[in-house]
Amino acid sequence: AKGMGRNNVQFYLDELQAGAEEKLRLEDGLRIAIVNREFELHFQPQVNGQGRMIGAEALLRWRHPEMGNIPPSIFIPVAEEAGIIHSIGSWVLDDAVAKLASWLNTDVPYAGHLSVNVSAWQFARVDFVEQVRKVLEKYQVSPERLMLEVTETALLYDFDQTVSKLRELRELGVQISLDDFGTGYSSLAYLKDLPLDELKIDKAFIDEMLLNQDHTLVESIMAIGGCMKLKVIAEGVESAMQRDALLNLGCTQFQGYLFSKPLPEIEFLKWVTLQQS
Ligand code: C2E
Ligand code: CA
Ligand code: CA
Ligand code: CA
Repeated sequence: AKGMGRNNVQFYLDELQAGAEEKLRLEDGLRIAIVNREFELHFQPQVNGQGRMIGAEALLRWRHPEMGNIPPSIFIPVAEEAGIIHSIGSWVLDDAVAKLASWLNTDVPYAGHLSVNVSAWQFARVDFVEQVRKVLEKYQVSPERLMLEVTETALLYDFDQTVSKLRELRELGVQISLDDFGTGYSSLAYLKDLPLDELKIDKAFIDEMLLNQDHTLVESIMAIGGCMKLKVIAEGVESAMQRDALLNLGCTQFQGYLFSKPLPEIEFLKWVTLQQS
């Protein structure tokens, strides 16, 4: 038994070591990923009740030269912890708006907005609004075409700052979506004072509708959205049953594998062209 214990400890130490080493490796990789052009945005369509496109969400992809594709759920937290998220976030915003501008300036039948994820750390920067304004000016994109997806964590950190930043973004004409809505701890008392355009229902609640036949949470979110006069979009919609249940609850905006996975630009534009014809 003594030997076993020792082995377990050794195993634990090895795991810990690997974890720390891997993290350092990711950090080092992330620091040079922009210059090495290893990042790419994929685009996932958002549709209405008739299945017509209303916009899309830009999702970041990273291909490490040796480790291959690393999911954002792994590398975004590492980038945040290492303080590299600012340069990555700036790259994402710039590339997303550049792509949007190029679609709008050609004969791609692109409809609606483009949503871009903003990390809490990015949003916290004093010059964030200025950064958004500059990038819109740089590519001459009309602000209503840009939607920023922020999480509750990002908004509740410094409430007064948040409210004034959201107001400034709103004045610019940029739209704001509250991502992963319902998974945080924000109180409705706070929410009602936030100038927002959209609530995005987290996939967990959409899954719940099928798994446990439980519609209560989605129903509540729809009610909140109604009271606050916000658009509501459901993410992670994978089946027609989910879409129909959502439609029954009054939700008419969807994103999920049922309609399309996130696609590289070329395939995304094919999807756009096909469904608009
Ligand atoms: P998120 O913002 O909640 O994005 C939705 C995630 O759900 C995406 O995962 C998307 O590919 C996935 N998804 C969409 N529809 C379905 C579906 O029907 N079924 C399933 N199973 N999944 C679906 P992804 O691309 O791996 O991104 C994960 C998270 O990484 C995002 O969650 C977001 O928090 C973060 N992220 C991605 N791109 C960026 C970025 O550019 N900046 C920042 N700060 N975070 C990003
Ligand atoms: Ca998102
Ligand atoms: Ca989300
Ligand atoms: Ca989510």
